[in-house]
Amino acid sequence: MGKSLKTAVVTGGAGFVPSHLVDKLLAEGLRVIAFDNFVTGNARNVSHLSNNDHFKLIEHDVSVPFDVEGDVDFVFHMASPASPIDYVQIPIETLKAGSYASHNALDLALRKNAVYLVASTSEVYGDPEIHPQQETYWGNVNSIGLRSCYDEAKRYAEAVTMAYHRMHGLDTKIVRIFNTYGPRMRLDDGRVVPAFIGQALRGEPMTMFGDGSQTRSFCYVTDLVEGIWRLANSNFHEPVNCGNPHEMTILQFAEAIARHFKIELILDPRPLPPDDPKVRQPDISRAREILQWEPVVAFDEGIKQTIDYFRDFVLQ
Ligand code: NAD
Ligand code: UDP
Repeated sequence: MGKSLKTAVVTGGAGFVPSHLVDKLLAEGLRVIAFDNFVTGNARNVSHLSNNDHFKLIEHDVSVPFDVEGDVDFVFHMASPASPIDYVQIPIETLKAGSYASHNALDLALRKNAVYLVASTSEVYGDPEIHPQQETYWGNVNSIGLRSCYDEAKRYAEAVTMAYHRMHGLDTKIVRIFNTYGPRMRLDDGRVVPAFIGQALRGEPMTMFGDGSQTRSFCYVTDLVEGIWRLANSNFHEPVNCGNPHEMTILQFAEAIARHFKIELILDPRPLPPDDPKVRQPDISRAREILQWEPVVAFDEGIKQTIDYFRDFVLQ
């Protein structure tokens, strides 16, 4: 009989980032059990795995306790609405995804003596007063603003993770994900990457919030997933930033999309949403040192892959 495979549970497994993580785990030779309630994800993101015996997708809201039979080696808690237009519409579900669901995923890891990794976010830094953001920065978050359902849920998710680590000795990891993009994002999720690409594909002006001077640093999804996998296999328990330090203004981002499409840039100016962070750039010294990780996919290449995905999707 062959060696039995390691097993990973991935919450939110039908989502954008988590579905790429599922692909990575399968490629690394693991068996994967994904849980999703499809609130923002779609089974289509893992439909290419429907005949894969090592993959199982279970429809379930992980804010309600859940279990699996047999051994589990890793629990990746990835489930949470992640786009501002999603989480402001379902703030209570979002808070539960960071709190109740964290407890449920942590308890599963504890019962199974598994490694636990939680997807946190650069939003824990809020509208940052230091730049770029290092893991040692405690953040500047409005606890009652529109984004607070997400930001505070993730801060709670980090706190409860450290509590399980300290109280139970659980082997936990926290990844702070910065803006990530790539195929399988939802065209209508409101985030700037699908928004501008979708508008360019439809020949519409790009909806620019504010004057476009706010900055973001975009990481291609396969780079992120590599960082997550390395972190899961490390012995490090404090948060680690995973993102691409290549920073640009949102106006520069719009110009880049126009360049890719060889179209004239036409903007549709809109007000800047409340609490929209003015700057964001990861300091990835910790990931470089501990994980020997840094992004390798150039922005132009990642954007090309993403445009190709959306083009096929729109033309389907
Ligand atoms: P996504 O919405 O595509 O994926 C999240 C998945 O979780 C979806 O499939 C959704 O249906 C599922 N889900 C949500 N609540 C659930 C629940 N209660 N029970 C079961 N399933 C549930 O978003 P994404 O961008 O892929 O984000 C994945 C994770 O990474 C999230 O935790 C997010 O906070 C984090 N993150 C993402 C980014 C980014 O730039 N994409 C940045 C920072 C953090
Ligand atoms: N943004 C924009 N037009 C859009 C969507 C977003 O100008 O149609 C801006 C938004 O205000 C923010 C940046 O792009 O400053 C990134 O927004 P996104 O929702 O992608 O991510 P987040 O704000 O969570 O980093």
